[in-house]
Amino acid sequence: MASPEQKVVLITGCSSGIGLRMAVMLAKDEKKRYHVIATMRDLKRKDKLVEAAGDAYGKTLSLAVLDVCNDESVKQCINGIKNRHIDVLVNNAGIGLVGPIESIPIEEMKKVFETNFFGVIRMIKEVMPDMKKRRGGHIIVVSSVMGLQGVVFNDVYAASKFAMEGFCESLAVQLLKFNVILSLIEPGPVHTEFEAKMIQDVKQKEYPGADSDTVHYFKNVYLPSSVDIFEAFGQTPDDVAKCTKKVIE
Ligand code: NDP
Repeated sequence: MASPEQKVVLITGCSSGIGLRMAVMLAKDEKKRYHVIATMRDLKRKDKLVEAAGDAYGKTLSLAVLDVCNDESVKQCINGIKNRHIDVLVNNAGIGLVGPIESIPIEEMKKVFETNFFGVIRMIKEVMPDMKKRRGGHIIVVSSVMGLQGVVFNDVYAASKFAMEGFCESLAVQLLKFNVILSLIEPGPVHTEFEAKMIQDVKQKEYPGADSDTVHYFKNVYLPSSVDIFEAFGQTPDDVAKCTKKVIE
C-alpha cells in the first residue's frame, strides 16, 4: 500500500515494452517517491514485469487487471484502489496496425480506435472526477510521433493518435483550472514487441496498393527504407520511461 508521501501512479499496458519499463523505473526510484499500480489485461503475462521489478514487487509495485477496452474492467480496477486515489495516470496501452486499408477489415480498424482512442478516454473519464475533486493530478498519454505526422501504411494507427492529440489539447485546457495537468509523450520508433510486429508486417506483407510515389515518399521522408526507419531512431523503452519520469517529477 502507498504511504501518504508516495505518489500513486497507475500505468496501463505493463505486460511488455514501454509500460513495463516505466513501471519498473518508477517502482525502483531510489527515494521511493512512487507507488506503482502496474496494470495489464491478463496477469498470466506478469512474469517479465515481476522479474524486472525484483524487490520492488509487493512493496512499491503492485499488480492489477485492467482491459482498457472494457468498461467493467476499468471501473473494477479504479474502485479497487483505496479512496480511488490516483495521483498520476499513465495511458500507455496501445496497439498498432500496418498495411494498405483495402486489405484491412473495418473491425480491425475499430479495434485500434477502441484501444488507442476510446481506451484512453474510458480511463480519463473514470479518474477525472476524483482528480478534479481533490484539485490535483497528472494524466499522461503515450501518443506517438505518428500523432503529429502520418506514415504510409500506418493510416489508421496514425489517425487514432491524431484523434487522441486533438482530444488531449482540448481537455488539457479544461483541466488546468482544477490543477490537473495533461501531458503527451510522443516517442519515435521504440524497440518493443509492438515495433517487432510492425517490422514483421512490413517485411512479410505485400502492398499492392503502393505506387512508386508512395514508396518514394516513405523512403525519403521516413529514412532509408521502410525497415531501416526503426533502426535509425533506435529509442529504447527505457528512454521513453526516463522521459516520462521527468515529466512526472
Ligand atoms: P507493446 O506491444 O510492447 O505493449 C503494449 C501494451 O499494451 C501491452 O502490455 C499490451 O498488453 C497492452 N494492451 C493492448 N491492448 C490492451 C487493452 N485492451 N487493455 C490493456 N492493455 C492493452 O508496445 P509498446 O510498449 O511499444 O507500446 C506502448 C505505447 O507506446 C502504445 O500506446 C504505442 O502506441 C506507443 N508507441 C510505441 C512506439 C514503438 O515504436 N514501439 C512508438 C510510439 C508510440 P497485452 O500483453 O495484453 O497485449
